[in-house]
Amino acid sequence: MRNFFFWIALLLVSGGVHAQERLLFSHSCNYTGEINPVEDLYGFASDTEADDAMHRIMRYTGLPANFTIKAANVPNAAAVIYEEKRFILYNQYFMLRIKDQTKTDWAALSILAHEIGHHLSGHTLDSQGSRPDKELEADQFSGFILYKMGASLEEARIAMETLAVETGTSTHPPKSARLAAVTNGWMEAKQQNEDIKPISPSLTASTTPTTPTMVPRSPPADPQKATASFKRIWVEKEVEEQGEKGVRIHAHFNVANLFGQDCRAVAWFYDGTTGEPLEDFNGAYSTSTGDVSVGVDFVPNYISADFTDVPFFIPYEELHQEEGMHLIKFQVGLFHQLPAGQMQQIGAVSAFYTFEYELAPPAPSALFRKMWVDFDVYEGIQKGMRIHLQFNLKNLKGHPCRAVVGFYGDSGLPLLDYNGLYNTIDGKVSVRTDFSPQYDSSDFHDFILFMPYDELHLSPGNHSLVLDANLFFQQDNSYVELGDGFEKFRFVFSK
Ligand SMILES: [Zn+2]
Repeated sequence: MRNFFFWIALLLVSGGVHAQERLLFSHSCNYTGEINPVEDLYGFASDTEADDAMHRIMRYTGLPANFTIKAANVPNAAAVIYEEKRFILYNQYFMLRIKDQTKTDWAALSILAHEIGHHLSGHTLDSQGSRPDKELEADQFSGFILYKMGASLEEARIAMETLAVETGTSTHPPKSARLAAVTNGWMEAKQQNEDIKPISPSLTASTTPTTPTMVPRSPPADPQKATASFKRIWVEKEVEEQGEKGVRIHAHFNVANLFGQDCRAVAWFYDGTTGEPLEDFNGAYSTSTGDVSVGVDFVPNYISADFTDVPFFIPYEELHQEEGMHLIKFQVGLFHQLPAGQMQQIGAVSAFYTFEYELAPPAPSALFRKMWVDFDVYEGIQKGMRIHLQFNLKNLKGHPCRAVVGFYGDSGLPLLDYNGLYNTIDGKVSVRTDFSPQYDSSDFHDFILFMPYDELHLSPGNHSLVLDANLFFQQDNSYVELGDGFEKFRFVFSK
């Protein structure tokens, strides 16, 4: 085998739309380290998902993205140089499969990061192909970048756990060493991150004595003489806590003569325009009278305890307003929780404060359930396959949606269209149907698409075909992907 990058590009299809190139090559880095069995390499335009992923990765390196990413019939992914240009090649079917196997996008991202690591480390320049030490460097880079992108250690390792070969080869180290390299890169990024983090003040309610000299000799608590005063109240909007967006109210107050007693601060809410209390509907954030409120328990640790920042978070959802802009008014009160369960108010309630927020419509989503196919059926005089899809769509009532099925052939690459009848804009064979869901949650038990055999542009005989079903909804003249599912079929094609 020649150990340098030797490619001959041969344009099989002219006309611009079908950017399919036949590429001869003698070397590439193969992610899993198996021997590359593919003799004839074909490159295609990449899909936008892969393109986006590469740009996301490059953003974290701080370097310009001077690569081209191409779909190709490589076994998984590869970093190569051709005519002094850098390419990342990836197998589209492989990427679908790994996403399906690991149930996460991190696997594909870590593989792309590994290949990008080869380019950035100059591995592809020395014309010697893969070597174990280079692979470990690329693995370490992948762990490093995945930490920066927000992956957990498990997420950074999942592709390697799933794919790597246990024993080493002349080009690739054993799985254990590669996992250690990914972990090492991830830890290094974490360490760097901790080194530059400013020392942040703790957000928990701190109790600091305003006048420490008052402590001696007074009784531990005297609820009869309890007093409270608000110093400051402020609002932080568009905050996220445990995946929910909402508002965080902060209060600075002082409570005296309740040392060691159970206390509670409560904020309650009104419609800012009508002044009516907001009604609660689910008991999650409510007062005993059924109005929307949020409470925080605290125990004063001093005779005169100053709470400089007590945060109250309430998700926007729990304000129970319809979609759109809202003006909300609130006030805060402090209570002593008596042993019998009653609440006794301490001091006066706070003044009124307001904030505005916008409740966005619930996000559309899709759940793909299954796909099955009837082969050799007729519609009119056309012989073809009937593709059945089962899925659920949420929050898309009356909205234009589209189901598209794409086809991958024996090589793992998409089938290409030649006559513009059943195709995507980038020239791949596909069949689609536009529709509109009728309910907020619409179940489609048997959604049917018919694909004429002639339009697959296949030669007669045995094929293994992967059908990739994608669901989209229309937004501002473009289609946003909601979800997909795919299935592999053995298929004997006859006219
Ligand atoms: Zn590699």
